[in-house]
Amino acid sequence: EKFEDAGLHPVILDNIQLARYDKPTVIQSYTIPAVVQGHDVVAVAQTGSGKTAAYMIPIISKLMGKAKKLAAPRPNVAAPNYDPKLHRARAEPLVVIVVPTRELAVQIFDEARRMCYRSMLRPCVAYGGLPMGITAGELEKGCDVLIATPGRLCDLMSKPHLLTMSRVKYTVIDEADEMLQADWEEELNTIMAGGDTNEDADHVYLMFSATFPKAAREMARQYMAEDHFRIR
Ligand code: AMP
Repeated sequence: EKFEDAGLHPVILDNIQLARYDKPTVIQSYTIPAVVQGHDVVAVAQTGSGKTAAYMIPIISKLMGKAKKLAAPRPNVAAPNYDPKLHRARAEPLVVIVVPTRELAVQIFDEARRMCYRSMLRPCVAYGGLPMGITAGELEKGCDVLIATPGRLCDLMSKPHLLTMSRVKYTVIDEADEMLQADWEEELNTIMAGGDTNEDADHVYLMFSATFPKAAREMARQYMAEDHFRIR
């Protein structure tokens, strides 16, 4: 098994090399082709299995081909008449990754930065406890890949001047069981449904979890394509 045979964009192959990933882990060898082919994916995955790169690599690779066209509008801060009050740009992410803790959010943000290098796609991280002003400032600079905890993401979804979900193409629920256990079920449903506001019928859902309690299976059944890929 080689990354080179997975049909990935050359820029992503460079970034994989820079990260010193020599060959795909088991979860990567199943997830990458499934996402490249456009499937929804449900995967049983533990921390340490390389699950973050398993979804990050193919998602960024798929978007990369169209990155120039798709990348979020950036305010031209160098323009002579630039006024941050007048030139606010709201975040219109293409990818939303939901995780249970801020530690995990920051870790995934690092992986996103590695994989987005030279891609024109800009990752952002948002979690509870980070002052809203700082999050808003970051989102305004352009946000293509948003990594967030469920509470903060729902907060942002209720502020349409900061964030719109209407361009989201990929929704990733990472450590689903942890979030359901922590009683984020309502927020997760709001987020999953938020992806559906994209008119694009090809919206892709991915779910990663160490265990699959009933609530996680229900969520997969409700939102994912019937032919979604199951990896365990
Ligand atoms: P994760 O399971 O996503 O938390 O990843 C665990 C660790 O494995 C992280 O530090 C990654 O940088 C690393 N990693 C991910 N994929 C690979 C790979 N193909 N080869 C070597 N290390 C990897």
